[in-house]
Amino acid sequence: MVEIEKFDYENSYEASLRPSRWDEYIGQEKIKKNLRVFIQASKKRDEALDHVLFFGPPGLGKTTLAYLIATEMESSIKVTAAPMIEKSGDLAAILTNLEEGDILFIDEIHRLSPAIEEILYPAMEDYRLDIIIGSGPAAQTIKLDLPRFTLIGATTRAGMISNPLRERFGMHFRMQFYESKELAKIVQQAAQKLDKPCDADAALEIARRSRGTPRIALRLLRRVRDFAEVENEALIHLDRTKFALDQLGVNEEGFDELDIKLLQLLIEARGKPLGLSTIGAALSEDEGTIEDVIEPYLLANGYIERTARGRIATPKTYEHFKLTPRLQGGL
Ligand code: ADP
Repeated sequence: MVEIEKFDYENSYEASLRPSRWDEYIGQEKIKKNLRVFIQASKKRDEALDHVLFFGPPGLGKTTLAYLIATEMESSIKVTAAPMIEKSGDLAAILTNLEEGDILFIDEIHRLSPAIEEILYPAMEDYRLDIIIGSGPAAQTIKLDLPRFTLIGATTRAGMISNPLRERFGMHFRMQFYESKELAKIVQQAAQKLDKPCDADAALEIARRSRGTPRIALRLLRRVRDFAEVENEALIHLDRTKFALDQLGVNEEGFDELDIKLLQLLIEARGKPLGLSTIGAALSEDEGTIEDVIEPYLLANGYIERTARGRIATPKTYEHFKLTPRLQGGL
């Protein structure tokens, strides 16, 4: 497999734990089932797999699925991210280097510029690259045939993909947050690979505090393993896990500092809906991060509600902070 770029976050720890077989990829059953049918069908017809788009918050396994598709298709995968494709020449270079049946994975695909998207359309539809040489009346379009390839796009922001681009993907899949049971399996599987087994209770404890996200679960496992190692413990057990997670300030619900700040802000607003820009300013966080990374988990679990006028806390939020909506005066 060839990789054009490695993302910063994809450190060797995460890469070493990336499932390389379908049976190691836990959860997302519906997506897996559908994908395997489409893969089998395209292999039978000896065609390139249709283009695939994955939506969902970071760390839920989109990149991992792209690698698994490549393995199953017995194809090479080239990995890049939209911010790295600045000029039309960048995309042309990537496309002309593809081989028949290759997979091209573009992360953060909502960030492609309109000019780059225009080049992608004929490439996706007709495996054709239209390059414009020169400018003004003397400009000429050269058409190049491309090998049949599969584009896999991933995005954290479903709403920011332009319609024409979205429509050119034959398959759309929305990733779901993971159940604790599934995350516990991921943790135990990773612990085995790290040669530091983790008992079932400890794995479930890590899972419960991981915001439904494998990347967070693996990160916490790594920290807990450090605590166990310092204590010369061969097995990661529940007591050490609880101690480590408490030391790290990871809340029982898996909320991190930003989740708590956001929820407190909404409670302090006493039911008045808060807009994204107000929340961003109060938390000193980029609005995109709030929308893509922080909010989805809180929304999915009923801790915030999004109304036309802004975000509000829900009864579950008050309950969590042991407040009643009548006591909306703060914590
Ligand atoms: P995304 O592309 O959605 O940000 P990744 O595919 O990079 O997420 O996943 C982050 C890490 O979590 C991967 O390295 C992988 O080890 C692990 N992971 C993600 N999903 C699963 C899963 N369903 N089963 C097992 N491990 C997973």
